[in-house]
Amino acid sequence: MTSPAEKTNLLGLPKAKLEAFFESLGEKKFRATQVLKWIHQQGVDDFDQMTNVSKALREKLKEVAEIRGPEVVYDETSKDGTRKWVMRMDSGNSVETVLIPDGERGTLCVSSQIGCSLDCTFCSTGKRGFNRNLSAAEVIGQVWVARRSFMPFESAADRPITNVVMMGMGEPLLNFDNVVDAMDLMMEDLAYGLSKRRVTLSTSGVVPALDRLGELTDVSLAISLHAPNDELRNQLVPLNRKYPIAELLAATRRYLSRLPDKRKVTIEYTVIEGVNDRLEHAHELARLLKGLPCKINLIPFNPFPESDFKRPKAMATRRFQGILNEAGYVTTVRTTRGDDIDAACGQLVGQFEDRTRRSQRYIPVHHVAP
Ligand code: SAH
Ligand code: SF4
Repeated sequence: MTSPAEKTNLLGLPKAKLEAFFESLGEKKFRATQVLKWIHQQGVDDFDQMTNVSKALREKLKEVAEIRGPEVVYDETSKDGTRKWVMRMDSGNSVETVLIPDGERGTLCVSSQIGCSLDCTFCSTGKRGFNRNLSAAEVIGQVWVARRSFMPFESAADRPITNVVMMGMGEPLLNFDNVVDAMDLMMEDLAYGLSKRRVTLSTSGVVPALDRLGELTDVSLAISLHAPNDELRNQLVPLNRKYPIAELLAATRRYLSRLPDKRKVTIEYTVIEGVNDRLEHAHELARLLKGLPCKINLIPFNPFPESDFKRPKAMATRRFQGILNEAGYVTTVRTTRGDDIDAACGQLVGQFEDRTRRSQRYIPVHHVAP
């Protein structure tokens, strides 16, 4: 008998790859259309439920393939409606996925790696080091699990997930192929059917990969800038020493100019007290971004136990925002959501360090709210 590890997990295959898979079995390509809908729209993981697939093919599929999503080890909803899942992946490591409901909108924040190698000084994921890339099945599996947990839907309009942001754990551009496949499925009409405006990749600035991304997809882009000059950014985002701000912004402009529509890039700026929150930083940022079609998202730093950085005073963030607004920028201040369940930006850490106790239940680590 084939062990599960040798079976092809169909969950992570975008349409073209699923078609190729069926052709390799001597089947017609249109099987991919049927199976995509079953997996992603109906949330089915059992071939026997695929009633428009012949019994013989279902038997064959059971032998060579599987539909296997991550295992949910923690699922909790915050007082403000933010829901967090901790999902255990094949290796026993976990990642976190967060759903942030906001009126009609439901934004799912998806992880791309277990840990992160880029070690930004203000990020708890970075502080835990890098473990491994997630497979495409593990990336899309987070969307699959989240969507499935709301089934059956009351009506077709009842869509709990309207947007996906690759802003969970990890640097998505360092897991390029798997993230591109997963985003392909997010936008695939036979799967999740999200528009390219509603799928956003956030990067700290892997410049060559950003150029490659522009050749392959047209998802929306968020750039984690966090500082208005190289000297300061070198300290906060070590990757800046390799790809400094001028190169990053040039690549961002190239990406935007390739898009078929007029779209803005989101500039993310984590505001840290006494580090990058001075008024002169705001003025410098306004000068730096001149002419770039962008909106600026200010994220007050979310503290975590291993960090000495402090969350800025609300007043300081507002003054910072005021300067950018006066300079003509559209800015938003991200409100902290899900703080009581450690679901806020930069608080996603997972349990990947502890490989010896993988059978243990996930125990949420609570920090003292600021
Ligand atoms: N690696 C990618 C995507 C994941 S991080 C990137 O860096 O863009 C998603 C966002 O959360 C980034 O803008 C990151 O800077 C921000 N973030 C990380 N740690 C944070 C913290 N402690 N407080 C507030 N925002 C944080
Ligand atoms: Fe990695 Fe993004 Fe955290 Fe930096 S902010 S360490 S790139 S996850």
